[in-house]
Amino acid sequence: MTIRVLPAAVASQIAAGEVVERPASVVKELLENALDAGAKSVTVDIAAAGRTLIQVADDGAGIPADELMLAVERHATSKLVSADDLYRIATLGFRGEALASIGSVSRLTITSRTADAPAGRRLRVDGGIIGRLEKVGAPVGTVVSVEALFYNVPARLKFLKQDMTERRAIDTLLTRYALAYPQVRFKLSEGGTSSLQSAGDGDRRAILAALYGVDTARQMLDVVAEEDGPSTGSGQSYKLSGFISPTALTRSNRKEITFFVNGRWVQDTPLNAALLQAYHTLLMVGRYPLAVLFLEVPPEEVDVNVHPAKAVVRFRNPDKAFSFVQRATRRALLAYAPVPQVAPQNLWGSAPSQPRMIDPTWSLAHEELSAVSGQEAGGSQPSTVVTQPSAFEKVPLLRLIGQIGATYLVAEGPDGLYLIDQHAAHERVLFEKLMAQHDQKAIPSQVLLTPAVVHLASASAKLLEDQLPVLQHFGFHVELFGQNSYQVRAMPVLFANSDPAAALRALVENFEEDEAPLQNELEAKIAGRVCKRLAVKAGQVLSPDEQRALLNDLEACASPRTCPHGRPTMIHLSVDTLERQFGRKGAR
Ligand code: ADP
Ligand code: MG
Repeated sequence: MTIRVLPAAVASQIAAGEVVERPASVVKELLENALDAGAKSVTVDIAAAGRTLIQVADDGAGIPADELMLAVERHATSKLVSADDLYRIATLGFRGEALASIGSVSRLTITSRTADAPAGRRLRVDGGIIGRLEKVGAPVGTVVSVEALFYNVPARLKFLKQDMTERRAIDTLLTRYALAYPQVRFKLSEGGTSSLQSAGDGDRRAILAALYGVDTARQMLDVVAEEDGPSTGSGQSYKLSGFISPTALTRSNRKEITFFVNGRWVQDTPLNAALLQAYHTLLMVGRYPLAVLFLEVPPEEVDVNVHPAKAVVRFRNPDKAFSFVQRATRRALLAYAPVPQVAPQNLWGSAPSQPRMIDPTWSLAHEELSAVSGQEAGGSQPSTVVTQPSAFEKVPLLRLIGQIGATYLVAEGPDGLYLIDQHAAHERVLFEKLMAQHDQKAIPSQVLLTPAVVHLASASAKLLEDQLPVLQHFGFHVELFGQNSYQVRAMPVLFANSDPAAALRALVENFEEDEAPLQNELEAKIAGRVCKRLAVKAGQVLSPDEQRALLNDLEACASPRTCPHGRPTMIHLSVDTLERQFGRKGAR
């Protein structure tokens, strides 16, 4: 093959790939342009999750008639003049690439008018081919429509995810920007129905409610901090504002950690780690906070020209940014959160020499026991090897002794003592019952006397809507009840005594955590999540009958020893272990 220069159209499609990956990236670029133009109101309309149409209308400064042709050229920008400007960028855009890129992979129409122009202008670009400038009547501002995204790049089209996922990405993006720019009115609608609307009155907490739902938003803690910047340069200070969750409010992944740096949504920053460090020892392993934080630093302190999509930034003083965020969030957290007690006593009353949390897993629980035996024997004893029982190992018939701490059941079996975590055990029981009914396609459902109405965050509402048929399978009858509100009309009989609103929230939480699981996987996950939410809680006093019923149900389970999420349901102290611990046998 000989070397040749690629035709311009091919080159620009390649370049477009870096900027425009999916509908949400188009929305992001267009939003940024509107914000750079000083818009006070930005309206986004999409159709088919952005595949067929993305339209962003703003009331910003508009593009002068004689510059419109230029705006769609690659490397054409009004925001940057010299290379030096790169180090003090105050706008979101600066690469002059977005419109050219979008125009090369879609049918793009820009209509714009500046305040001093008597009429607007319209320009179309079709798959990179620039049309003629037309004179049109238009309000001041800019409307950009992107139709048939990727129609000429079938490979890209194939990589798009399900509509639900693409739509969610757009929704997430818009809510985040609405939070970052509370003075701007944002509106998102699909096919004429609006799913998000912010007032533009500067009230961030109201927008937070749209993002997370009212309950969660109410619990979030305020962060406000300011510190002097470096003495060189502009002398501007570092500022952090936003919200973080109290320690009781967590998620199982980091997806709900959002950082804006100088008005730009950035990903994968060391700031995430700074936040997590602020929560250090305050959260359980595997749990993550929710956070929406806005960091402002002097523009020369941050390099935004690292990534074509501008989603990554580099700090000139990474340590300074890191420690500022860590201190500021830690302070906000400690102002509200009590510091938990450290150094729990172990099961045997004697504190281990190195205080450490007892990890609630089988193998570790046994290690803990072994460590204690080792200590008692002068520390020279090799620890007993205990193998973890298979998940499918049945439990023997158990004799109930009672409940302790309103959290554990105590029972005796032929081979020793069992401590059973009532919540984990009940989760397992519910899960197996539900899945058995599901496999037989017969989940009995019970109509609620008073249907429960649940209001969801707009992103969650969309997820739920897409999953209504699956829920029907599970015996949940849920209907739309006004914007982002749903009505639960019937529940599976298995959960007859549970709170329908809690059940619905559990369902939605499940969807959010998975991109696009396979159908059967999804169903198991839904079941797991609902069971977790609706199982009896630690701290709930159970009557002797309830205790016995739970134990019987657990004995009947196929995998009684773990909850559906893999945590152990029970700790077994065998006769042998007891004898060793009491020094009756061995280990001496
Ligand atoms: P960049 O934003 O990096 O400058 P773009 O390709 O996104 O590059 O836009 C090119 C230029 O078109 C911008 O610099 C700006 O002058 C103009 N422009 C784009 N969108 C708008 C808008 N919504 N309002 C006003 N001007 C705009
Ligand atoms: Mg731009």
